[in-house]
Amino acid sequence: MNLKTVFENNKEWIQNKLDVDPNYFNELGNGQSPELLYIGCSDSRVTAEELMGAAPGEVFVHRNIANMVISIDLNVMSVINYAVDHLKVKHVIVCGHYACGGVKAAMQSADLGILNPWLRNIRDVYRIHRKELNAIEDEDKRYDRLVELNVQEQCVNLIKTAAVQKAVRDRGLEVHGWVFDIHTGKLIDLKINLAKYLEDIQEIYHLD
Ligand SMILES: [Zn+2]
Repeated sequence: MNLKTVFENNKEWIQNKLDVDPNYFNELGNGQSPELLYIGCSDSRVTAEELMGAAPGEVFVHRNIANMVISIDLNVMSVINYAVDHLKVKHVIVCGHYACGGVKAAMQSADLGILNPWLRNIRDVYRIHRKELNAIEDEDKRYDRLVELNVQEQCVNLIKTAAVQKAVRDRGLEVHGWVFDIHTGKLIDLKINLAKYLEDIQEIYHLD
């Protein structure tokens, strides 16, 4: 994909939008009120809006390596606070994907430089669920399961934040864990029972 093509595509995209609605960009410039916050992986194959069929203005998006929600990451925490407190999204989604390079890297013993502290958070997920994971003999299946458990733990990290706890209590904000199956294109809802987790973790992480 060369950069000349990008600008040509952009021109075509503008024309397509204007053909349907001549006012399209005027309305887009008036502001946003997305109902979804999507936290996903930076992987080039997992295109957040496209796989959900979402249009501009519908989804607030944050992507990083392996869709992590880390409490000292100012970037993800700012996104969460802005989306929950100001945009008042109704749903927060953590979306992982099978064949995630970040998760794979965390399963291997290699020094990856600056990625070490980032991936260590995934190694922590492995440690928490070591029993279940080590019982899976097939390596590919163990890898898939770690992707799912990582999504689950990032959802738990989400509900440890004050903004999310408050919005769940005050206006019924919902947190969801999904996995994108890169081999079939299917979006899978892990149906994580976050009410149960919230009750459980609030004993220690109750902030609001
Ligand atoms: Zn990934």
